[in-house]
Amino acid sequence: MSCIGLIITGGSGLAGQALQKIHTNAIYISSKDFDLTKEKEVKAMFEEYKPDEVIHLAAKVGGIIKNMKYPADMLYENTLMNSFVIHYACKYNVKKLIGVLSNCAYPDIAENYPLREEYLYSGPPQKTNFAYAYSKRTLGVQIDSYRKQFNCNFFSVIPCNMYGPNDCFGKGNSHFVAALIRKIHEAKVNNKKTINLMGTGKPLRQYLYSEDFAKILLLLLDKYEGEKSINVAPAKQNPSIAKIAEIALEATDSQDIKIIFDESSPDGQYRKDLDTNRLIDIIGNFKFTSLSGGIKKTYEWYLNNIANMQKKE
Ligand code: NDP
Repeated sequence: MSCIGLIITGGSGLAGQALQKIHTNAIYISSKDFDLTKEKEVKAMFEEYKPDEVIHLAAKVGGIIKNMKYPADMLYENTLMNSFVIHYACKYNVKKLIGVLSNCAYPDIAENYPLREEYLYSGPPQKTNFAYAYSKRTLGVQIDSYRKQFNCNFFSVIPCNMYGPNDCFGKGNSHFVAALIRKIHEAKVNNKKTINLMGTGKPLRQYLYSEDFAKILLLLLDKYEGEKSINVAPAKQNPSIAKIAEIALEATDSQDIKIIFDESSPDGQYRKDLDTNRLIDIIGNFKFTSLSGGIKKTYEWYLNNIANMQKKE
């Protein structure tokens, strides 16, 4: 096949499906198309499409339980995928590539907050997602190294936690907001007046609506020619888990449900809010979806898709 413009790995995931909604003119890759942990398949993908541009979203991703249970898989699979994708993007002369890191890759404790991009390697990551964090740090180092040695026009973004339609809502493998929406819904359906959440409710979390992330990735692909990593998050928002739960109860019209925190289970990192000055300098003022508005839209999507999801579980 001749050269196509843009390929997006991880095209079937949360962020990938948000991109599909707003940008149809790209090739979206899932693990069913190419298993990116296999060098032969990564090479075949580049050979087939010879893309000009790549957004590399694909990753083994999970919440605190999955990260604690499968650290070896997180490290092994992510490191393989990232190594092969960056290497072959370079060999096949990709003109621009965005690699996606995560705010989990930042040090567990920093001297200053919000976290600026230059603090990324300045201390050990949180122990509950240590392996995943290191696979993301290595991706950042790999992108910088290919830029230095081969002059590749590659850079990375560092998003905060995400949520939105098409998130993974399953028990045991979901992220916090998706799990929260499922728990609230199940309590409503079963007429229960309480739901249980892990931890103390005290940690602070920035949350990014997946469709905002998709728009920002396309803006950066278009506008950014620099080499630095860029934090992506809604500026100056950093509510506690307990506050997010309260917002979700309101957004789903479930104020009669009470939250019970299981303080014996781990909290994860206390805070990892991101400084977004660099992002704003590049894309200008961006109107982020409010947490309440995003949760409403996600819950609506969940209600429309719950039957399909239950069939797959
Ligand atoms: P998802 O878990 O929703 O999707 C992961 C994607 O990666 C899927 O398309 C999946 O394909 C693909 N994938 C996984 N393994 C392989 C493989 N071996 N070969 C090919 N493709 C594979 O991820 P998100 O959309 O949530 O995340 C996108 C990016 O953003 C990731 O890099 C993630 O680390 C990062 N990020 C995510 C955050 C979040 O809160 N979700 C927060 C910060 C960063 P398939 O569907 O076929 O399995």
